[in-house]
Amino acid sequence: MANEDKFKKVIGHAKEYGFIFASSEIYDGLSAVYDYAQNGVELKNNIRDYWWRSMVYMHQNIVGIDAAILMHPTTWKASGHVDAFNDPLIDNKDSKKRYRADVLIEDYCEKLNKKAQKEIAKAKKRFGDSFDEKQFVETNPRVVKYKAQQKQILERMAKSLDADDLADVKTLIEELGIADPETGSKNWTDVKQFNLMFGTKLGASADSATDLYLRPETAQGIFVNFLNVQKTGRMKIPFGIAQTGKAFRNEIVARQFIFRMREFEQMEMQFFVRPGEEMKWYEYWKETRLNWHLSLGLGKENYRFHDHEKLAHYANAAADIEFNFPFGFKELEGIHSRTDFDLKAHEEFSGKKLQFFDPELNKNYVPYVVETSIGLDRMFLAVFSNSLKEETLEDGSSRVVLKLPAILAPVKAAVLPLVKKDGLPEIAQSIIDDLKYDYNVQYDEKDAVGRRYRRQDAVGTPFCITVDHQTKEDQTVTIRYRDTMKQERIAISEIGKVLYNELSFKKWLK
Ligand code: ATP
Repeated sequence: MANEDKFKKVIGHAKEYGFIFASSEIYDGLSAVYDYAQNGVELKNNIRDYWWRSMVYMHQNIVGIDAAILMHPTTWKASGHVDAFNDPLIDNKDSKKRYRADVLIEDYCEKLNKKAQKEIAKAKKRFGDSFDEKQFVETNPRVVKYKAQQKQILERMAKSLDADDLADVKTLIEELGIADPETGSKNWTDVKQFNLMFGTKLGASADSATDLYLRPETAQGIFVNFLNVQKTGRMKIPFGIAQTGKAFRNEIVARQFIFRMREFEQMEMQFFVRPGEEMKWYEYWKETRLNWHLSLGLGKENYRFHDHEKLAHYANAAADIEFNFPFGFKELEGIHSRTDFDLKAHEEFSGKKLQFFDPELNKNYVPYVVETSIGLDRMFLAVFSNSLKEETLEDGSSRVVLKLPAILAPVKAAVLPLVKKDGLPEIAQSIIDDLKYDYNVQYDEKDAVGRRYRRQDAVGTPFCITVDHQTKEDQTVTIRYRDTMKQERIAISEIGKVLYNELSFKKWLK
């Protein structure tokens, strides 16, 4: 399936099967804002829970908080967001479309990268087993040229953006001959900076109201609570504070479904360490977070690291975990070494000390921070798009199946009486009554059982349990597995065990 078609199918499936709707759809929606529907909210909650358990329950030195969305406005002065949370935007004069200048340049570089990958793939085919990829990448003139071009372009862009030399960013776009991806026009405006924070007001009357911002990241809620948590939790460095919650950004370009939203949810963890030890922890969290992704089984080849050339104003090292979305590799999660920038800034602006007394070193210091930050909605898109498959079956028919990692599936099991009579619905209901304390389970008696299987396949239910006349005689049911479509006869008393074996957090997180 071509990528564009695949992406359209993902969006269509998300709507048709009750995962995601456009916000306020009856009023034609609101740009880049979405609602999670009955199945979507379950999948989203399950992803959040999987993250929370892996961060908070699996680490004795990480605790969670839930800070408010509205924060004192000085927070955003201190964090640098008022002055520097900008994206460089550029408009095309012919198409009137707006783009992020840095994204246009990055996409150009990705094309160079694809050319290099093509050369490598060709050579791999030609040389077979004797192919030495590392040597080829280092010596093949074309690959070396593509890589060098890419590096040079990204370095120049980083330098210009750092120096706020927006004229040079435009010159770079012109020199590279970058055209509007939708129309091919090269008639560009100048590059301008645009602040992404949404403003709002606190207070009843216009003159006494205070200007506030909707938080553009959850991290600052953690920083301002650093000392509260450290003291009340008697935390010792190194330790982490985790948080999930809504963040808001007035994104310039938001045309990629839930990949880039104006209201979205983040899952962030700030890990406080001794100054000088941050690189060790940065490497640790890069590896740990990649392993978390790999535990879900979406395919190792779908992830890659991308080290940042241009560092944010607070960071001394940063990498993205990129995922192979239907529209190519893009950032899914960021791992940032944020130094002591935020805590120091909050000390300065609040006049309060935000330091830790380290008994081993016998001194006070402002800790350094390593952050892991992932978008919950982006993770949803990664899991959802990767899991959506169209399969041709042995008998020539086809099925659409959402092969979600079972631990994340919205409905864990569907219980289906073969017919709506003869006491079968009652047995099915009693199975539900037993399972519902541990799992989200669903009863379905409508249509032929084959159609009911297909419906469950489409929403990703890993198990279907069918009650038939034999059940009445020997207390057994048929359990059907979504991925293999294999069916087995098992005792009703065994159902709980079979589900536990496939759905326990221990199995997935270990
Ligand atoms: P991008 O470069 O794609 O704009 P970013 O580098 O600004 O992302 P961070 O500030 O590092 O993103 O935010 C951490 C994570 O939050 C990102 O990795 C992403 O998963 C998620 N995220 C950021 N912006 C959005 C958005 N507009 N919609 C959905 N998720 C987002």
